[in-house]
Amino acid sequence: MISVFGSANMDLVAYVPSAPKLGETVTGRAFRTIPGGKGANQAVAAARAGSQVAFIGAVGDDAFGPELRGALFEAGIDTSRLRVEPGPSGIAHIVVEDSGGNSIVVVPGANGSVTGCSAEDIEMIARSRALLLQLELPLEGVVEAARAARTAGVPVILTPAPVVELPDELLDAVDLIVPNEHEAADITGVTDPDDALKALLDRVPEAVITLGSRGALYGSRAGARLLVPAVPVEAVDTTAAGDTFVGALATARSEGRAPADALRFASTAAALSVQREGASTSMPSRAEIDAALT
Ligand code: ADP
Repeated sequence: MISVFGSANMDLVAYVPSAPKLGETVTGRAFRTIPGGKGANQAVAAARAGSQVAFIGAVGDDAFGPELRGALFEAGIDTSRLRVEPGPSGIAHIVVEDSGGNSIVVVPGANGSVTGCSAEDIEMIARSRALLLQLELPLEGVVEAARAARTAGVPVILTPAPVVELPDELLDAVDLIVPNEHEAADITGVTDPDDALKALLDRVPEAVITLGSRGALYGSRAGARLLVPAVPVEAVDTTAAGDTFVGALATARSEGRAPADALRFASTAAALSVQREGASTSMPSRAEIDAALT
């Protein structure tokens, strides 16, 4: 079982010819509400990839709360540690232009209340084969979850997004960090992925830098280096490619697969996802990943 300690947001997506400027009103073509949030997306990706998954986080007591819980439940995810907080659920207000460009406002809502772990959360983490973390919850909560996992000997996989200053007390409890190349550059201050990888390995034992259509670069303090090329495909929508990659990577690692094998599994899952629209709607099943690998 994999635990995800992370965010659940309702994505409120308006599709418009061009985004409104300050003070302007534009008429959109369409509007959709789509369950999202990096935590929930990684949880769904891991569940589709074949893991049993438990989600630890919070939704509000508004109309979105049950919808967000329902989406996780439908994906087969254990939501017994998903709390209901008074007030609104987290939302991401997204404007997508015809050009494909977008602008996003995230309001954390209930996610902002997850400043720590309950005894039951810690028990869930301790029973896991891996803990997935991102940075859309308050940092003190993320640190507490990481330390609970470390104490129980559970591997911690961190997606450092959105980028914040990463304190040692967090990274000391992280086993594998998985930034994309922009996040890696922001964290380390160097743009070359090989140099960024070296800098990350000064702080954590293993790192993967995802490089979009150029693949993913893996390294370990033990001296391993691997460049896993992306699977060449026609990309339709790369939303949540990274979250799909991490959910699949965690699944493969928690099944005991070696890094090269696990990275191939993750790249295959991500390549399948970019060929379809949406975030959680684009994530492939285990059967689809296995079929594409053979
Ligand atoms: P993020 O979505 O976090 O920005 P990336 O864009 O680096 O992350 O993508 C994560 C992974 O998804 C890549 O390492 C790669 O395996 C896969 N991927 C992303 N874009 C493509 C693409 N155009 N074709 C094939 N695979 C892709």
